[in-house]
Amino acid sequence: MVEDEKFRVLRGQMVENQLIERGITNPRVLDAMSRVPRQEFVTPDLSHLAYRDSPLPIGEDQTISQPYIVALMTQLLYLSGHERVLEIGTGSGYQTAVLCELAAQVYSLERLPRLAERAANVLSSLGYNNLEIHVGDGSQGLPDMAPFDVIIVTAAAPSLPGPLRSQLHPNGGRMVLPIGDERNQYLEIVTRQDNRWEIEQMLPVRFVPLVGRYGFKAGESKAEADSDSDHTAYV
Ligand code: SAM
Repeated sequence: MVEDEKFRVLRGQMVENQLIERGITNPRVLDAMSRVPRQEFVTPDLSHLAYRDSPLPIGEDQTISQPYIVALMTQLLYLSGHERVLEIGTGSGYQTAVLCELAAQVYSLERLPRLAERAANVLSSLGYNNLEIHVGDGSQGLPDMAPFDVIIVTAAAPSLPGPLRSQLHPNGGRMVLPIGDERNQYLEIVTRQDNRWEIEQMLPVRFVPLVGRYGFKAGESKAEADSDSDHTAYV
């Protein structure tokens, strides 16, 4: 079996056994995840594990999220195709690709320049062009591009970051993010109507920390030290 065919079969099995079996029902989300070649977003030595039911390391102490969590968070966004989306935590760019399949325009922010650059290259090689990747502290959002119809945060914040709250569209803006400490986090949905924000707690999850001004304090790791670059955009 040629490589592409092998991965296509594994992708079909992932959609069936990991997503549909666990209650992902939105056909647009299932279609998008049937199309995006997850093996391209992991390092070549791990490509045989790309469709495994787990997160995987992507370097810099970070992970590509488990397929089910990507599907669940995406389903909770209720994307219909016309939205402007802000994603915090580009990581490998896999979730970004799924968002590009389902929304009009995606702005993705990553604090680690090497991950941002790698993700930008992979996404561009796959032909995605409705996105901008920015390097910077996502806990501060992207005020110049606000408001956003949808915000998705793929790293855990200690509490709802104020700037993200205010960059949500006042007319029905929707945000999905994990909130909590390193051990206990819940996936939460925030919806905004004018100056009212409703918060709904969904399920326990475990994400890497959102490190930034409105997140957790940066540690002393090399990856974190290298991330203090100027704000850069990869389009
Ligand atoms: N969704 C990604 C994927 O599909 O590969 C996985 C994201 S990974 C679990 C979380 C990412 O958030 C990491 O790449 C990490 O560097 C990034 N991150 C943490 N704090 C951040 C911040 N303040 N701003 C932007 N990105 C941040």
